[in-house]
Amino acid sequence: MGKKTQRSLLLLLCLSGLARCSASFLFWTAVVELTYSDGKNGTVDKYCQCGVYGRNSLLVKAEGVVTLPKGDPMGCSSGTVYNRNSSNPPWIALVKRGNCTFSEKINAAKRQGADAVVVYNMDGSGNSTTHMGHWDAADIVAIMVGNSQGLEIVRLVSNGTEVMMQIDVGSPHGPWMDTYWLYFLSIAFFIVTAASIAYFVFISANRLYSLNAHRRADRRLKSEAKRAIGRLQVRKLKASDEETASDSHVCAVCIESYKAGDVVTVLTCDHIFHKACIEPWLLERRTCPMCKCDILKALGVDEETKGSLSAESPPEVTVITVAGGEPMYEVPLADRPGPDPDSLQHHYDNRAFEEDSAAGRR
Ligand SMILES: [Zn+2]
Ligand SMILES: [Zn+2]
Repeated sequence: MGKKTQRSLLLLLCLSGLARCSASFLFWTAVVELTYSDGKNGTVDKYCQCGVYGRNSLLVKAEGVVTLPKGDPMGCSSGTVYNRNSSNPPWIALVKRGNCTFSEKINAAKRQGADAVVVYNMDGSGNSTTHMGHWDAADIVAIMVGNSQGLEIVRLVSNGTEVMMQIDVGSPHGPWMDTYWLYFLSIAFFIVTAASIAYFVFISANRLYSLNAHRRADRRLKSEAKRAIGRLQVRKLKASDEETASDSHVCAVCIESYKAGDVVTVLTCDHIFHKACIEPWLLERRTCPMCKCDILKALGVDEETKGSLSAESPPEVTVITVAGGEPMYEVPLADRPGPDPDSLQHHYDNRAFEEDSAAGRR
């Protein structure tokens, strides 16, 4: 399996894990509507989005008369009986949280024929609710309401009031709908963006630095080569010279034999070439085309340059700092102000060469 495939699989696993994790955090609120008589021929209608559907509840509407269990308000016993009037078929069981699992309470009410089960939270918990898990008691509407709301209904029912309850599906809530999650996601996005920008700046600075270093090295080598060329011996061939006597002597660059009057350069290895042929070659390669002898080393020009560089002070630098961080990289602002370009031209040790150079500059 390729590395790319492995990485894709890992990403897929993470995403599916995240999706499952998010799904388990998702919950639906329940809209609870209460209708009852106030005892003076008037009707009270109360409405709030104060319930939460259980994890395993049916996500549908339910309606019925609120009914309390006989005896234990928590309705934990499997044989719990409810104070209901057989003439009112649809009814909703109202039980208190605690003493047993949610599944046990819900199943006990379901066995008695309840259409839905409302569990109210423990004493002292105010209006808070939890997302109930009741894996063994599915196929029924089960919601949780706060302790205060639950106790209010219990008081009404205990006083003999017939309370009608209507439960309806409210709105979904999940991690991505939560304000804290939005904050978290915004901050995470900001961090990732900042890190990407910092990385980009770092890479660009690095590239710029390498490019400048490469250009400087190239310029230095060219200037060394010019200096070395200036020190090489230059001869004008005469008819009596050995090189012009036979066709066996040829310039290895242009493959032409030497004639009287040709100007030739003698390298440190004693190989000779036409001056016009060998100079561009040496500027680029700095070695003899025939024996690869390095003219910079042979003439000691590279050693001279090293000595002069170490005697100089370090270059001026710019420090790039990414907001709030440590100095990241040092980049030379520009090349050190060098001497006049003309003076960078090589100084020739032999007169014949000096003339050529002057002609080149004109
Ligand atoms: Zn030649
Ligand atoms: Zn050579």
